[in-house]
Amino acid sequence: MAYNKEDVKKVTDELAARRERAKSDWEAHVSEIRTMLPDAYELEIKINRAGPRMYEAALRGEGDKAFEKIIEETAACTAKLRKILTENGYPENYLDVNYSCEKCSDTGYCGIEMCSCMKEALAKASFESSGLATLARTQSFETFDLSFYEGRDRDRIAKNVQLLREFAKDFDSRIGENWLLFGPTGLGKTHLSTSIAVEVIKSGHSVVYESVNRVISAFEDKRFGGDYSGDRVRKYSDCDLLIIDDLGTEVTNQFTVSCLYSLINERLVKNLSTIINTNLGQGEIRDRYTDRIASRLFGEYMPLGFSGRDVRQQKIERQFG
Ligand SMILES: [Zn+2]
Repeated sequence: MAYNKEDVKKVTDELAARRERAKSDWEAHVSEIRTMLPDAYELEIKINRAGPRMYEAALRGEGDKAFEKIIEETAACTAKLRKILTENGYPENYLDVNYSCEKCSDTGYCGIEMCSCMKEALAKASFESSGLATLARTQSFETFDLSFYEGRDRDRIAKNVQLLREFAKDFDSRIGENWLLFGPTGLGKTHLSTSIAVEVIKSGHSVVYESVNRVISAFEDKRFGGDYSGDRVRKYSDCDLLIIDDLGTEVTNQFTVSCLYSLINERLVKNLSTIINTNLGQGEIRDRYTDRIASRLFGEYMPLGFSGRDVRQQKIERQFG
């Protein structure tokens, strides 16, 4: 499991804010009750003394009897307190600390285990920072529709879906594998990449989905100003799965080619997975990029070809035709 550092910080900050909110709400309630219902306030003080009293009893070497007595008294106080509160029009739990998550009291951990609330918050933060928030709502393996493909195209696409689905499912053990999805636009490359990203994020890994042009611009910012820390570039080289969309739509020059080469190479060295989508054919990739890039892509990436009739076009025809 490797979460993105920024996502973890965002989530731990949010948990700290929740705890702070719970505490200040509780303090406000206690001070209100102190003024409005002094009897209830006294009971609350007694209830809060239970912990220290147990501790003192233990220090004195007193046995179970003493503990039972404290527990009984505390339960009686709690019942009385709840009664007073409800009789005066307050909810009975008005003096409880109201955490968003009762399991972990908004600490994010139950013992040494990460709490489910924190896992959910991390998954949500990953979606937001992955650039996938909108796409992921409509594009998943479940919504991929093979009926748009015919004959041999259909067999080929069905095979691609199966291979990529297995890869996403077993990402934990298959991290480091790379895929090159090539073929004309509108044949499901983006849909399938998004589906993989969704599955991989759910399994607790960091994913970044970015168009090649945004990737290049991050390198430009790092090189020529704007982003001196290089945070975006670091995110591209460190995430467990990087999906680069639309390779071939960028302006190709020495700078862009060297950025792409260093990114692709660094990720191979670190054994992290990359998926590249491109409308270019294999010959065009060779013509356009240096041998160094082409040999990495053809040597280290599993190529999957996409063929058929533009699905977007077919959807429009089905709707209006
Ligand atoms: Zn929790």
